[in-house]
Amino acid sequence: MTDDVRNVIVVGSGPAGLTAAIYTARASLDPLVIEGEPSSTSDQPGGQLMLTTEVENFPGFPEGIMGPELMQSFRDQAERFGAEIVTAKVTRLDLKTSPFGVWVGGTDGEPTHRARSIIIATGASSLMLGLEAERRLIGHGLSTCATCDGFFFRDQDICVVGGGDSAIEEALFLTRFASSVTVIHRRDTLRASKIMQERAFANPKLSFLWNTVVDDLIGEEQLEGVVTRDVESGEVTTHPFTGAFVAIGHRPNTDLFVGQLSLKDNGYLRTFDDRSHTSVDGVFACGDVQDDWYRQAITAAGSGCMAAIDAERWLERMGH
Ligand code: NAP
Repeated sequence: MTDDVRNVIVVGSGPAGLTAAIYTARASLDPLVIEGEPSSTSDQPGGQLMLTTEVENFPGFPEGIMGPELMQSFRDQAERFGAEIVTAKVTRLDLKTSPFGVWVGGTDGEPTHRARSIIIATGASSLMLGLEAERRLIGHGLSTCATCDGFFFRDQDICVVGGGDSAIEEALFLTRFASSVTVIHRRDTLRASKIMQERAFANPKLSFLWNTVVDDLIGEEQLEGVVTRDVESGEVTTHPFTGAFVAIGHRPNTDLFVGQLSLKDNGYLRTFDDRSHTSVDGVFACGDVQDDWYRQAITAAGSGCMAAIDAERWLERMGH
């Protein structure tokens, strides 16, 4: 154990975690934010906005703002009020004894930190297709982040897999760089919102492969092609795409809490009474790890504020 018992530790540093940090810092609770650490292009501190292009619907930015720039502003604001932010991954949590134990960098011995309350804001991660080749080619032509990697695909023919808002947003962004962008979708209609669909259909650089799934990715050290299968005709085709972006949804990051906190059937953390309370007293959850419905930056930020106020009031009730 390296420090005294903290009032509050925030796990995660997306809009939810950093909003919770701003509010708890301004309440003089000296929050420690354990922000995570980069382990792949789809797993970075700062949450999904770090992997997003232009954010047009976050109130207060009439001209839009780039996701990473918005997250830097959240961070600066939290630090301005004294939040301590460490770049590390939580490897174990003990929510069964109070104060709670938090380990980083290992799971043995005494906890690295202890806290009277915990705010969980671990978000959600990109889903992958489950192909063996994905491990080999991620970062080598295969990506889950158009903002991070779009620049590398200038004047190339590339594809995006998925049919939701994320897929269309990524595809539209990528048309700024690539010669052509093909959206590969397993059905014949998009799930994306109407306004995104209209923009996509109007973009001359975008085309669609309907009723099509990706069976394999070609290339040893660099992506050289994408093997698709038409789910109706069974026809298999190899396309010479040199870039592929997977945008098929997300999974809540709840591995640390299995067996300790109540989860919903779909794996998201359960919160109670329209508040941020979890099944353990003193543990609060906010953002995409508990939101399977709205999943927006602004709702994540709002729920981070709720978790901070709930934690503050709980600490006060407990006499801290
Ligand atoms: P999503 O809405 O769940 O869409 C996932 C897409 O991937 C669907 O089209 C789905 O196909 C497809 N898919 C899922 N698993 C697949 C697999 N194994 N193989 C092939 N395709 C697969 O996820 P999302 O696009 O990430 O969006 C998540 C939420 O964030 C949504 O509520 C969305 O509106 C919101 N969002 C909004 C914006 C914006 O407003 N600018 C931007 C991004 C996201 P099916 O359609 O057949 O199920």
